[in-house]
Amino acid sequence: MIRIGQGYDVHKLVEGRELWICGIKIPHTHGLLGHSDADVAIHALCDALLGAIASGDIGKHFPDTDPRYKGIDSKLLLSHVMKLVRENKYQLANCDITICAEAPKFRPYIDDMRKTLASVMEVDSDQISVKATTTEKLGFTGRREGISALAVCLLTKE
Ligand code: MG
Repeated sequence: MIRIGQGYDVHKLVEGRELWICGIKIPHTHGLLGHSDADVAIHALCDALLGAIASGDIGKHFPDTDPRYKGIDSKLLLSHVMKLVRENKYQLANCDITICAEAPKFRPYIDDMRKTLASVMEVDSDQISVKATTTEKLGFTGRREGISALAVCLLTKE
């Protein structure tokens, strides 16, 4: 049995915050605003995984009103979500993430992102794809007001 999941997230870019994407810190003039570390790509991935096991969303599991999650490293959230996936007797076949941002350029960080996510998820990095695109200066991502991320995943029954 196979299950598909999708996830989408957006965070606002602001000055004075670190930029964390796919579990790594990326040098940039701005960072993402959020209750946690605002790792938009991990949040989209968590929602895809939770969607595939029909277990709600990241807001249900880790409410942003809960002080325990203030400033939390999103890798810890992803690790918890993967635990739920395994408890439901599923394993990851693959996942594919797209980051939409005008800047910075993510290409130099892609391999490190895949390795980092693979380590947190306890899977091989060839099961994880990370891509980045601009939106040709259109919309909120194009105006550098925020960054969005999309993720899909496929799970197989153990
Ligand atoms: Mg989020």
